Amino acid sequence: MEPVSVEEIRRSFVNSTKSQIKAMTPPARFTELPWESLDYLGWRDAKAPNRAYLVVRRDDGLIAIALQTAATGKPRRGTGLCDICNTAHQVTDVALFVARRAGSAGREGNTVGTYICADLACSLYIRGLRELEVPQGDTASPEVRATRLGERLESFAARVLA
Ligand SMILES: [Zn+2]
Repeated sequence: MEPVSVEEIRRSFVNSTKSQIKAMTPPARFTELPWESLDYLGWRDAKAPNRAYLVVRRDDGLIAIALQTAATGKPRRGTGLCDICNTAHQVTDVALFVARRAGSAGREGNTVGTYICADLACSLYIRGLRELEVPQGDTASPEVRATRLGERLESFAARVLA
């Protein structure tokens, strides 16, 4: 993706209050991010690990979505699949992220949820740039997977904005 600035990100939130946007901690080592390998920018808030953010460049501009995730106390076993990039992980490396919907729907308490790689590094997994611990069922090329990731991300964004 084209690099973005922290200011642009702060201006692009669609489902957050001013105070939430102010409290947002930008990704660590922001200037060293591998933009050329990113389909979207996603990170956990270093100061509030249950908060995460997802920044997507769409046809009509940049949008930033604030997400919440809850750590489950129980140890879990098995594998899980990311709904955005279709990567298989140990189940603890996939998390259910919930986004408040934009506008009045969100103010009324409506949310949408989806399972995403817990570190929001989908783009790195599909390109083989971050190591995986479980065998993968999806053997499509990185280009094909990036296209599908874009479609799934767009449909998630559309659900948040709807
Ligand atoms: Zn993923």
